[in-house]
Amino acid sequence: MGASSFYQLGELRQTLRDLGAREVHELRMLRAWLSGSALDQGPKRQQAEHALPKALREAMPELNAVLAKLASVKSEHPSEDGSARLLVSLADGQTVESVLLPRDGVCVSSQLGCAVGCVFCMTGKEGLLRQLGSAEIVAQVVLARQKRPVKKVVFMGMGEPAHNMANVLEAIELLGTLGGIGHKNLVFSTVGDTRVFDALPGGIVKPALALSLHTTRADLRAELLPRAPRLTPDELVELGEDYARKTGYPIQYQWTLIEGINDTPEELDGIVRLLKGKYAIMNMIPYNTVDALPYQRPSWEKAAAIARELHSRGVLTKLRNSAGQDVDGGCGQLRARVSKIEFR
Ligand code: SF4
Repeated sequence: MGASSFYQLGELRQTLRDLGAREVHELRMLRAWLSGSALDQGPKRQQAEHALPKALREAMPELNAVLAKLASVKSEHPSEDGSARLLVSLADGQTVESVLLPRDGVCVSSQLGCAVGCVFCMTGKEGLLRQLGSAEIVAQVVLARQKRPVKKVVFMGMGEPAHNMANVLEAIELLGTLGGIGHKNLVFSTVGDTRVFDALPGGIVKPALALSLHTTRADLRAELLPRAPRLTPDELVELGEDYARKTGYPIQYQWTLIEGINDTPEELDGIVRLLKGKYAIMNMIPYNTVDALPYQRPSWEKAAAIARELHSRGVLTKLRNSAGQDVDGGCGQLRARVSKIEFR
């Protein structure tokens, strides 16, 4: 067959073509794979134009075996909130996390590790180990569809999608065209990078955008997100607002609420100043305390009071738990625990 693994969607498509697939075959096979089934064998006798070439039929078992190895479940951790965290093995034996979300969603990883180094994140502690290929990103959705219906894909797992832009956008385009996911149900999540605002508006599929804000103070943002691009919160919101108006979907601002760090009255005033009147939703997610990190989760009552206050002051605010809270739910925690990674 010529390929022992596919890292990129382009490699998969080229292999199908090399085996004689015409466009009609290629699209049908990709649709079958994206739905969570094996590659489609197609009719063998009637409709000759739809029947697959012999070489392709013969290669099918091997192709399906290679695709199954792209992302396979190493362990599954169901949570009381209806989500389930998956530790996913890649073909090279590395692991990433995906999360099956309540209400037909899945959260996928885009990188192994992450270079942004947010001080409150376990994934950030590792630095970037490697990029995920576009086929590896899509394979996490296929894996999720083997377990549940998937109508929404959020790119909020391990990694910073803006640092793996070409592969993430290729995955988004395939999911939004052949994969049956509505464009606004594909959520590109980023700490903010001007390249995102240059690239996304020109795509065939324009995803919704989640921007990790975490603070309204530029100095604190530089401390919490040490290697994020030096966009100030004001600049980020301005770029976000422009994208929201272009696409017609609101920006989802993410705010990991950390006790004594970004839960102060000054921050609430800053949020109202930045977001009141904007096409935006503020998602407040109380931090998930981890033994290895020095940050604390505020009480749910305090978080709820903050959300209520913001709401009453004109900022549409939702208070959420990170999915799988009871099973080491924060990004990268499961992999860290299972891999027993040593931290500095
Ligand atoms: Fe990277 Fe996201 Fe973790 Fe920050 S929170 S280090 S962007 S994975």
